[in-house]
Amino acid sequence: MQHIPSRRTFVSPNVHHRRVSTPALPGTHATPAKIPCFRPSIGEDEIEAVVDVLRSGWLTTGPRAREFEEKFAAYMGEGVQAVAVNSATAGLHLAAEACGIGPGDEVLVPTLTFTASASVIRYLGAEVVLVDVDENTHCIDLEQAERLLTPRCKAIIPVHFAGFPCDMTQVLAFARLHGLKVIEDAAHAMPARRDGRLVGSWESDACVFSFYACKPITTGEGGMIVTRNGDIAERARVMRTHGLNRDAFDRFSKIGGSWAYDVVAPGFKYNLTDVAAAIGVVQLSRANVLQASRQAAAERYLKRLTGLPLDCPARPPAGSLHAWHMFPIRIHQNARANRDDLIAGLTAKGIGTSVHYRPLHEMTYWRERYRCERSDFPVASRYFEGAVTLPLFPGMTNAEVNRVVDAICSILG
Ligand SMILES: *Cc1c(COP(=O)(O)O)cnc(C)c1O
Repeated sequence: MQHIPSRRTFVSPNVHHRRVSTPALPGTHATPAKIPCFRPSIGEDEIEAVVDVLRSGWLTTGPRAREFEEKFAAYMGEGVQAVAVNSATAGLHLAAEACGIGPGDEVLVPTLTFTASASVIRYLGAEVVLVDVDENTHCIDLEQAERLLTPRCKAIIPVHFAGFPCDMTQVLAFARLHGLKVIEDAAHAMPARRDGRLVGSWESDACVFSFYACKPITTGEGGMIVTRNGDIAERARVMRTHGLNRDAFDRFSKIGGSWAYDVVAPGFKYNLTDVAAAIGVVQLSRANVLQASRQAAAERYLKRLTGLPLDCPARPPAGSLHAWHMFPIRIHQNARANRDDLIAGLTAKGIGTSVHYRPLHEMTYWRERYRCERSDFPVASRYFEGAVTLPLFPGMTNAEVNRVVDAICSILG
């Protein structure tokens, strides 16, 4: 994600968690504090967990990474396995590699996503087929996907956009019908639920989460592959550490065996450190609380933004849970201010925003490689024209939401 969160991380008062105390800046009470677009929630427990790892003498992948994997898999349930990696990009790459994607293959990817969802396919020498998104949910449009299918299509990468859970029943039926692998990009979806089931517990081939600094739970940098397919889990484990048949912790924790490993493939260096995993273990235990806190702010936005010339994100259907990772709105064309004016106006009032996303079909590399035209992606193109992502983070107060809404009203009203 393009947005770089503030280096100062505060833990907000209405998250039920021990707080890191931050001294008030002198002389700042006259102007209201800035509201960032996002800020991670880091507490004393995360700090203590990191210090414990530093004191332990084992810094790289080891007992904390294993604990994080086990707890993550248990959280998802349904007997899934979890493989910790150092980014979601690495996780998507490993998942696609383990699914056998390679030169000559094509993979369906929505155009409204971060570039990593698609670039991993190019790492493997396969081609990306960009697909428009659904008007309402901003998830991949399966009708257009069907029209773009060729016999070379091997997989589909649905993205749970902003934390809205894609209709996995439909995605899996589509994939089964056309013989496609399914790799979910769940970078925004921790936790999200569709039709009662957690994103990560469905029958896709793999589901990949991100723990980048401004994702729903964070380890600074990190990611997790979740799969119920033992072969995919095994291949991803081998390929994340140089293609070795045993990981470093195995080799060094068993006395006398440290030299005895084999290289079974030209693997990558994608393992998660114990320093990061220790943060992840604590963040995982807070994932539901963090989501509830973001949801409360999102509900307030939804209530207070009605009647303005803009579209809010869709509410999830009954029985589902929106991760509320972000709150992207779309300003209507007939509004008094356009997207750029609104962003400038909010910035002037100390309110951070972002845009998620300038669609891939508008980015030089993808546009040139696949000769993309805006008219091929009418929904994502129209959305992008008016797209602004409003501040949303755990612990955002009612007063902060009100300030953002009042500022929007004064600019658009
Ligand atoms: C952030 C993000 C990624 C990449 O995650 P990293 O952990 O930074 O590699 C992939 N897909 C989407 C949709 C993202 O937002």
